[in-house]
Amino acid sequence: MRNIIHYPDKRLTAPCETIDRFDNELKELSEELTYLMYKTEGVGFAASQIGVNKKVCICEFGGKFPHTLINPVLTLSGERITSIEGCLSLPGIEAKLKCRYNDLIVDYHDLEGHLRTMRLVVRDAIICQHETDHTNSITLFERMDPTQRRMKLKKYMKSRK
Ligand SMILES: [Zn+2]
Repeated sequence: MRNIIHYPDKRLTAPCETIDRFDNELKELSEELTYLMYKTEGVGFAASQIGVNKKVCICEFGGKFPHTLINPVLTLSGERITSIEGCLSLPGIEAKLKCRYNDLIVDYHDLEGHLRTMRLVVRDAIICQHETDHTNSITLFERMDPTQRRMKLKKYMKSRK
């Protein structure tokens, strides 16, 4: 079992590979990520958070179903909503964001390599945007407005010394 990595570990912001092989190794990665998500009581988890730079993430939609999203691509719609988000890779940080949308379509591959589409709203849409961000090498710090980022990054770096 690999460890969860923390910001500013470079692997969190390094480019993630698109998956084109849907093999047992991928299934094992998905199981490991799902296990870690439940162990840490999270609602989502991405491969880059254990230093695996591949476009894979797990999202717990509807508060009960863990979905493995591979190569997720979002089409955002609806209205912007304010969200309060935490991240297992940014311990102690609570971000207040105004950039999320309350409605989206996600196109992704499942573990067998089939293309799938899902519509998500509100809470599930926020989880999906957060985890898809990880597959695009974006963390909460990059999503904060400049003032919030400056303040929270300073406090965060100080807390890690
Ligand atoms: Zn996160």
